[in-house]
Amino acid sequence: MQKPNIYLFPQLSDNYGYLVKLPHAKEAAIVDPSDLEMCEKILDLNDCSLSHILLTHHHDDHTAAVADLKKKYNAKVIGHELDDQLPNIDIPVKANEEISIFNNTYKIISTPGHTMQHICYFNQDYSILFAGDTLFSLGCGRMFEGTPELFWKSLSILKKLPKDTLVYCGHEYTHSNLLFALSIDPKNEDLITYGGWIKKQGSDARPTIPTELRKELNLNPFLRCEDEVFQKIYNSKDPVEVFKKMRLAKDNF
Ligand code: ZN
Ligand code: FE
Repeated sequence: MQKPNIYLFPQLSDNYGYLVKLPHAKEAAIVDPSDLEMCEKILDLNDCSLSHILLTHHHDDHTAAVADLKKKYNAKVIGHELDDQLPNIDIPVKANEEISIFNNTYKIISTPGHTMQHICYFNQDYSILFAGDTLFSLGCGRMFEGTPELFWKSLSILKKLPKDTLVYCGHEYTHSNLLFALSIDPKNEDLITYGGWIKKQGSDARPTIPTELRKELNLNPFLRCEDEVFQKIYNSKDPVEVFKKMRLAKDNF
């Protein structure tokens, strides 16, 4: 068993794709490919072919390049067995199943909320999470299909992963998430400090991803719906209710 290298690359306007590859390997996997040109470029740069495509959910900005990549590289596409809007699935997976890619085990974590069949891929050997649009740095995905109950439950599952888990999410939304987080948690010194780093990354045109789960547990308001600070603001001790109101406030922010 070997630790995979993960190469983050930009796609479309603010999406991230991830190339997953063992050192010196000639084959790689890509998570959520939507930008064909960028996918081809990252594969060429790393001098490798594409054997697997991992999909977190069916939205176009995570899947648009699947058909072309599959045709060109004959890659196997992995996605939720019940997501009938996903294109060209070869390896259907379901919640709690474990799959092996390049000798690493990935657990399929079902995280309904953004979409009903959204899944995250968790590399148990090296604590790497491909979170799609469920969890972002300082935020979470919009609730397009799920309910607050389901979304909070999904986030609660992610909260229990090892604290050193590196979270690779689907978008660079950290700066706008920071502005919302600061609006409801303005006295949080750690958040202010992290904000400085986020702004620096932005002005240097660098990503803020991956983020460590430990940091998100402390700073991401959507993981802290049980925190007194937010229970007060949203006037409820029920984390589902707090989540519901916080998500709505962010949608209108
Ligand atoms: Zn999405
Ligand atoms: Fe997305």
